[in-house]
Parts: sequence; C-alpha cells; structure tokens
Amino acid sequence: MILAWVNGIYEGVDSFIGGMRLTARFLVENLRGQGGATAVTRQYPQEPAVVVGNRVRGHLFNKAEICIVCHACDKACPVDCFVMDGERDENNKMRASRFDIDLSKCIYCGLCVRACPTDSLSMTTGFEVDPHQDAARYLFRRSSDQLDKHLDEPDVVRMARLANQPREGLAADDRAWLDGIVNPAGEHLIGMYGMGYFTPEQKAKADAERERKKKEKEAAAAAAKAAKAALEKAAAEKALAEKEAAAAVAKPEAGA
Ligand code: SF4
Ligand code: SF4
Repeated sequence: MILAWVNGIYEGVDSFIGGMRLTARFLVENLRGQGGATAVTRQYPQEPAVVVGNRVRGHLFNKAEICIVCHACDKACPVDCFVMDGERDENNKMRASRFDIDLSKCIYCGLCVRACPTDSLSMTTGFEVDPHQDAARYLFRRSSDQLDKHLDEPDVVRMARLANQPREGLAADDRAWLDGIVNPAGEHLIGMYGMGYFTPEQKAKADAERERKKKEKEAAAAAAKAAKAALEKAAAEKALAEKEAAAAVAKPEAGA
C-alpha cells in the first residue's frame, strides 16, 4: 500500500519532469525557429486544415513491424493510454502482437513519441480520420467489454479488410463478427496497431524455426571453437618442435 503510494508519487514527479523537459526542448526549438514552430491558430473547420510544421501532433501511429515492445512509450505516458503485448518470432525478436492506444484518454503531449527508441511510434499530420483513408484500418471505436478480446493475426487481417468496406455491404456472418470486436457507438477510440497473436500453428512454426536457428548457431560456434583450438594446438606443437630442434642443434655445439 505504502509502496504503491510512493511509486505513484515517483511516477507523477517523473512524468512532470519529462513533460517540463519536453516543453523546454520545444522552447529552445521555437527560439531557434526549428520545426515550423511558430504558434498558428486556425479557425478549423471553417478554415482548411493545413500542415503548419513538422511538429504537428495529429494521430498517433505505430509501425508495429519495427516496434520491439520495449514499453518505453508506456512508461512515458502520463495517462496510461497503452496496452501492449508481444511474442517472439522465428528470429527471436519481439513482435507487437497487440498494441492498443486509447486515444479517448490521450492528451497529445507527444512524450511517448520522444521516448520510442526505434521511431516506430509517430504522430501523423492528419487532422481528422477519414474512413475512406488508411486510418480506418487502425482506428476503431470499441466498448469497454470489447477491449480485451483476443485477436490472432488472421483476425487482425480480417478486421482490416472488413473495416474498409461499407457495413451494409458485408455478409451477415462478417458483420456479426465485426460487431463483436468493434462498436461504432463505443466509448473508447482505440488505435489498434498490433499485428495479432500467432495462431497455435504459427507459434509452433516460429518456435521450431527459432530452435533450429539456435542449434545452427550453437553448432557453428562449436565448430569455430574447435577450429580455433586445433589451430592453437598445431601452433603450440610447431613451436615445441622448433624449440626442440634448436636445443638439439645447440647441444653438440656445447659438447664441442
Ligand atoms: S501523446 Fe497520448 S499516448 Fe502519447 S504519452 Fe501523451 S497522452 Fe500518452
Ligand atoms: S512503440 Fe516504441 S517505445 Fe513503444 S514499445 Fe514500441 S518500440 Fe518501444
């Protein structure tokens, strides 16, 4: 209880310092005129939305293929927007099976983007979500009871495919399936960037491939070690033989 309290204070102070550090950095960039930093107010939507600098904070986007599920963004976020999970692929690298950002909570502070070591997380320059554009594949309204529905990789592929079609045109089973996962009237706007969990077959395949690569690597290392030992042994034997030959030459000379 006390530990949780102390931890809460620590996290609060830590995110305060992180926020102030970012503000200070932006101040310096503003003073230097970097990043299209001048403050601009537009009467949107009366005035058209235009990109006013490369620091525009539009929608959060995660390029899951290069995300290493390190949780740095999660730790930096002051309002706990992230839910992520990963599993190891055939190359022993973490892959983002699930990567949800609750944009209903997001305050668009940008701390997570700054914390990301792989630049997989970014903020787009988009002002609005156009259902006919790419964003519709990632941004979904979900109700609370849908947030923890497990999605395998084929589910994610199916969801992205169905979400890009008009709902009325979907087959009844597709529509029912999609309605169980997303809800246009749901209270959470979730950016769903995860690649989906491996199915048991995909997982078994990845595990077997990883094991095969591990054994191959170990065998190569053992072979390299054995070759090195053989070289060292041959060099030692040669040195000994040379020493003995030198001693044999030196002995008669000494006798004479
Ligand atoms: S931009 Fe949103 S998700 Fe990122 S740290 Fe800030 S509040 Fe969290
Ligand atoms: S988005 Fe970036 S910071 Fe967040 S888990 Fe992935 S690699 Fe780490």
